[in-house]
Amino acid sequence: MTSHTPVIALHGGAGTILPSRITPEKEAALHAALRACLQAGLTRLQEGASAMDAVTAAVMALEDEPLFNAGRGAVFTADGTHEMDAAVMDGATRACGAVAGICGPRHPILAARAVMERTEHVLLTGQGAARFCAEAGLEMQPPEWFGTPTRRAALEAELERRRLNLPDDGDPARKHGTVGAVARDSHGHLAAATSTGGMTAKLPGRVGDSPVIGAGTWADDATLAMSATGHGEYFIRWAAGHEIDARMRWAGQDLARAATDVVTELGARGGSGGLIAVDRQGNIALPFNSPGMYRAWCDQSGEIRTALFGQD
Ligand code: ASP
Repeated sequence: MTSHTPVIALHGGAGTILPSRITPEKEAALHAALRACLQAGLTRLQEGASAMDAVTAAVMALEDEPLFNAGRGAVFTADGTHEMDAAVMDGATRACGAVAGICGPRHPILAARAVMERTEHVLLTGQGAARFCAEAGLEMQPPEWFGTPTRRAALEAELERRRLNLPDDGDPARKHGTVGAVARDSHGHLAAATSTGGMTAKLPGRVGDSPVIGAGTWADDATLAMSATGHGEYFIRWAAGHEIDARMRWAGQDLARAATDVVTELGARGGSGGLIAVDRQGNIALPFNSPGMYRAWCDQSGEIRTALFGQD
């Protein structure tokens, strides 16, 4: 069988990420964290692991990093609780698994993976999901383990803004964040994984695009693997992942064109955000319509790169 050069990309959220808003120390910390998380997935690929194992490893590392809104460091709902969403999808088989609105597993991505591997279902939510996670033997953490002072301050600022009826700053992605990874392994298979705390001060019960297969997470070896970040409601309405797939599959567009156009069209309608994607040839696309997107990638050159602002 032909061996393919492994390729991997990840994101740590998109939004109003501007050099003027980030201290040099924080900027350095973000680059280092993105690089370390990418390396976690890349090492697995270089050892011959599947794309699914690589994206899981990268997202587990991102979930443990409090700088990003997933796992530890997840944002708060309007009630001051955490409700996390996650999904995985395997491009070789279209097997997928997802959880929504959970708080308990240290690694929500492992909960999504357990749904894929141990049940006949795709998406679990609520009390049933919590019971499933406990029975699956996943490592659990108490709610206070997930919050950070920065996330608490963001919740308080948003609730205060609403109390005073002050205008929003016009960028819904400001309150967001998500982590995700996509990869192509040495067998040429694709996989995607996405994990998020959702949106600061979201209505309890709100589910974003991340666990919605075909919206924020998608993988098919014939087309692409993608993971989105941004204003989830728009990515759901536009079925973003599946829309890119359809343009590649039926209109013969290449990955860069299909992914960039969908992100641009979403932006024009108010849906800020971006995505990371890889196709079966190992091409990577990292389009976003917000001022920045935390991202890291290693293409076929083997060089690891990280970026926070602007386009590449
Ligand atoms: N897409 C996520 C959501 O809507 C949030 C984000 O990526 O910023 O839940």
